[in-house]
Amino acid sequence: MRKAVFPGSFDPLTLGHVDIINRAIPLFDEIIIAVGVNATKKYMFSLHERMGFINKTFENVAKVKVDKYSTLTVDYCKTQEADFILRGLRNPADFEFEKAIAQTNRKLSNIETVFLLTSAENSFISSSIIRDIIRNNGDVSILVPESVSFKSKK
Ligand code: ADP
Repeated sequence: MRKAVFPGSFDPLTLGHVDIINRAIPLFDEIIIAVGVNATKKYMFSLHERMGFINKTFENVAKVKVDKYSTLTVDYCKTQEADFILRGLRNPADFEFEKAIAQTNRKLSNIETVFLLTSAENSFISSSIIRDIIRNNGDVSILVPESVSFKSKK
């Protein structure tokens, strides 16, 4: 069984994340979207909200599961018996950052990181820019799935 973990903050889930997940569905038997819990990080959305956005968006997709984790990503993958980490790449900065992490993870375990390149129409989307727009009462509905735009309008 090909099981992948897609780790991230998802603060909040964006159409960039959704695109990577949708394109990974045919490649794996199961994808666990693993929402990171890092005590030193300040999030805009609570863990419950971040998981809720993903659950709602993929509620009809049996292959996609949602979970939380607060350990090393490779240790979490082992508990799930997942052999792959899924990540998205948008630009050279993502590549430089991801390269070192993927190589370290491969040294620590035998887990392969599979990268999908962002699609051209989503490459500029980032959770941090979306948080800025929300903070300034802007409309993010063309950048995020419905579960997030519904919540951020309230
Ligand atoms: P992290 O804090 O782990 O970077 P994010 O939620 O920001 O968490 O991102 C999770 C993953 O989604 C990362 O691999 C990131 O590169 C990818 N990603 C984020 N935005 C996009 C996008 N617009 N297109 C493709 N991949 C993306």
